[in-house]
Amino acid sequence: MKPSHIEHLGIAVTSLDATIPFFEFLTGSKCYSIEEVADQKVKTAFFKVGQTKIELLEPTCPESTIAKFIEKNGGRGGVHHVAFNVENVAEALKECEAAGIQLIDKAPRKGAENLMIAFLHPKSTCSVLTEICEQPK
Ligand code: ZN
Repeated sequence: MKPSHIEHLGIAVTSLDATIPFFEFLTGSKCYSIEEVADQKVKTAFFKVGQTKIELLEPTCPESTIAKFIEKNGGRGGVHHVAFNVENVAEALKECEAAGIQLIDKAPRKGAENLMIAFLHPKSTCSVLTEICEQPK
């Protein structure tokens, strides 16, 4: 699959407002984007750490998978997923499928920041929810 770098780490939080100041301190950078991703029922906030980003995810409703993740985590947030940057998500998905990796998304879909994204199933990825993503062309 040969990803070029870790594109971002997704971290679930109960409140963007409450956690943005800490991540601004931690990364030494201002939050540069806040975006709602309606089909994932989350609001996201982004920070840069070199080429890699931190993506905070706040659920926008109780049915959000992020809300369920927080609930399972005793009401606290935590690291939710790791995202690898690849040249072509559709190709990478084919490679993963051929390698017997269980896919959550059979085809790429649009994520935050206009990235094309797809998730691999944690059952096949050492229990780490794994996203692969492709920069907008
Ligand atoms: Zn992500």
